[in-house]
Amino acid sequence: MQNKDTLADTTTSKQSFNHNQLPLVVGVDLGGTQIRTAVLRGSTLLSRVSLMTGKNPSPGRIIPRVYTAIQEALGKAGTTIEQIAGIGIAAPGPLDSKTGVIFTPPNMPGWDHVPLRDLFTEHFHIPIFLENDANAGGLAEHMFGAGRGCNNLVYLTISTGIGGGVIIDGKILEGVSGTAGEVGHMTIDWHGERCPCGNIGCLEYIASGTSIARKANEAIHAGEGIELLTFARTMLQHSTTVPNPSALPTQGHDPATVELRFPPEETDDTSLGSETGDEQQEEHLHVNARTVALAAESGIPLARAIIQNAAEAIGVGLVNIIHGFNPEMIILGGGVTQMGRMLMEPAQRVVQERAMKVPREAVRIVQAQLGDNVGLVGAGALIYYSARPGPKSRAGTGSHHGWTGVRRRSHARQTGYAHPT
Ligand SMILES: [Zn+2]
Repeated sequence: MQNKDTLADTTTSKQSFNHNQLPLVVGVDLGGTQIRTAVLRGSTLLSRVSLMTGKNPSPGRIIPRVYTAIQEALGKAGTTIEQIAGIGIAAPGPLDSKTGVIFTPPNMPGWDHVPLRDLFTEHFHIPIFLENDANAGGLAEHMFGAGRGCNNLVYLTISTGIGGGVIIDGKILEGVSGTAGEVGHMTIDWHGERCPCGNIGCLEYIASGTSIARKANEAIHAGEGIELLTFARTMLQHSTTVPNPSALPTQGHDPATVELRFPPEETDDTSLGSETGDEQQEEHLHVNARTVALAAESGIPLARAIIQNAAEAIGVGLVNIIHGFNPEMIILGGGVTQMGRMLMEPAQRVVQERAMKVPREAVRIVQAQLGDNVGLVGAGALIYYSARPGPKSRAGTGSHHGWTGVRRRSHARQTGYAHPT
């Protein structure tokens, strides 16, 4: 399993440091449903321990479990906290990376102005850093992924939501309140629908995986998607042959999505005389973005139209990013971008048709390289980032030493360290 978790350190040539000489760090990826911790050296995971947040993700219950998970990860990597240069935490915003406080993340109920950095500092007594997860992802790709050697890039992650991390002149763009880079909430359709963030017609509300699924389920609910519904039903009937089970539609009550009911004439063996029987045989199906993608690949027009619409919205978003930041690179990550050409060709076409020539010709739009571990690598990268030479001073405890200071101290600590492969 460890090999699976280990990311190949493919090209270090562009880096200004030797990957093998980087100190050990701990990364924490704080998600709404899962929290992952790892011991890393650069982008290489030496161990990983995950825990599910469960039904009660209150800070009082979760934080001690994260401490335990970190200790387990240290043990699995054959090291101790004394050998660790710092702990980086990537968390959903809004948060203040300068003070290390998490405000009220929508997917983490019970969290309200939690001073996470101070709590971790009191427990571990080593430097602690906190950063928005999309910013951490951008930093990870900048230091260890597709953006190595590129100091002006925008990382766009498209999955259940759409997040962004902007690196300008090698630094994370934070803004005055730490919320810069929220490119998922740029307006694409100013006559559009209200996004939960308060704005109207946000990129996220049009093109995220959640939105692709919502549009499909709404269309089917409105009676416009019999073909898609039949496709979803066939998938379920042959579920054992579906290569990616996460693409399967789900059955049963799901308050997060519009409920779908097969009309009686669509179900087999309908017994019109028995209301009780009908009640029991009703199927509530919810398609997800992967279901829609598979249906689009199979040529189902509704699915193709939904993906095309999302793709063009992403294209418009890319144009706005190109105009706003003049980046050398835009790095696309997240599950939705796995749709590949079906998504990227319409998006690239919009960019070619609409973006201004000079910034358009300066930008490369590429796929992210770090995959599912991007959050952990980004969290760990916060320690290396804080120690890079330069005028900036990150706010983490003990962050005023220079890069060489961290390295020297870490070397001293590594006496007796046995590499666990
Ligand atoms: Zn929004």
